[in-house]
Amino acid sequence: MHGQTMMNPVPKPVGPLNLPPSLPNCFLLLRPHSRPQKRRDGDPHASPDDETATRPDEAVVCRQCLHPITSVVEQRVINSAHVHTFANPSGILFEIACYRNASGCGYIGPTSAEFTWFPGFVWRIAVCTNCLIHLGWRFIAVDGNFFHGLITSRLIFPKI
Ligand SMILES: [Zn+2]
Repeated sequence: MHGQTMMNPVPKPVGPLNLPPSLPNCFLLLRPHSRPQKRRDGDPHASPDDETATRPDEAVVCRQCLHPITSVVEQRVINSAHVHTFANPSGILFEIACYRNASGCGYIGPTSAEFTWFPGFVWRIAVCTNCLIHLGWRFIAVDGNFFHGLITSRLIFPKI
């Protein structure tokens, strides 16, 4: 009786159980690392490593979810600069980089000409099609010309 009443108040599950679960986690973390190494050693024909390495190098991806947004080949110089810094009507500064196509972008809200940063262009809000975070704006001219101004701090750029 005395032994049981002593055991019950002791928070057994909290103390000792914290240690064992961490051990299986360690093994799980090790496994994925060992797999790619076996692939490269065992399959010499799997040289597409080089090709797949080229594509990510050129991809500009969403910082929040890593969804591919655009590519370095889509970089454009608009008004003599690729990167611009503007303030919106609220005084918030945005550094944006200009790209022609951005296949990873979706567009929300109406097209607007208010406070446009590029004279002659109207704009629409551009978001990541995967996580819907606001990534920048699509600027459209009357003649149909367009480009994307993407907020640099919300993207991950390839290291060149
Ligand atoms: Zn995203």
